[in-house]
Amino acid sequence: MNIVLDIHSHTVACQHGYSTVQEIARQASDIGLEMFAVTEHGPRLLAANNEYFFRNIRVIPRKIYGVKILRGVEANILDDKGNIDLTERALKRLDIVIASLHESVFTPRDIHTITKALINAIKNPYVDIIGHPGNPRFPIDIERVIQAALDNNKLLEINNHSFRARKGSFKNCIKLAKGIKDVGGMVALGSDAHISFHIGIFDKAMELIEEAGLGEENVINTSVEKLLDYLKTRGKEIEF
Ligand SMILES: [Zn+2]
Ligand SMILES: [Zn+2]
Repeated sequence: MNIVLDIHSHTVACQHGYSTVQEIARQASDIGLEMFAVTEHGPRLLAANNEYFFRNIRVIPRKIYGVKILRGVEANILDDKGNIDLTERALKRLDIVIASLHESVFTPRDIHTITKALINAIKNPYVDIIGHPGNPRFPIDIERVIQAALDNNKLLEINNHSFRARKGSFKNCIKLAKGIKDVGGMVALGSDAHISFHIGIFDKAMELIEEAGLGEENVINTSVEKLLDYLKTRGKEIEF
């Protein structure tokens, strides 16, 4: 399976990233990636970007070194109502919105509360993708979350960084991937790179895809057109 794009990355702007957008683009170009998304952390995370970063995000070129760039956010899910930490004014300027649960913003709770939070985040009209839903620190009813994503035309992420940073994610993500395959859905692969060298790195995610038996039709990262078509269904027409 040929992966041509990465939906999740961080830069120096978030204060715990180690590369600039330009450096990530350089590396992406060098390894033959066609597109990546800059998805900085929403303001509520300790080391994160403020509202103005996202309002001004149009300054990032559409293409650097021949690599297409999507301007996005990894917003924080704030509560079980699925609210996230950016204003509509900023969200409207973004190509891609990932919403994730992070421990410093959302204290891990029981499976019912977390499932409710994720389903409501899925229903949030600004959210496109749920980030690292396989994190075992936030237990979920996987089948219900998959069904909600399907019903609302949203994607669930397989996060390559989780397999090192969030212990126990692999087992959960296998279940998630198999469930998505069963309903004919698609996963979105994110490297969650915090340094240029990690952009487009999906070593563990590819193992998982093989083990879960996902085909090209189940992975949005196999074609730029596929992701752009998906974003079009979300009301975003992006020209490069
Ligand atoms: Zn995250
Ligand atoms: Zn991230």
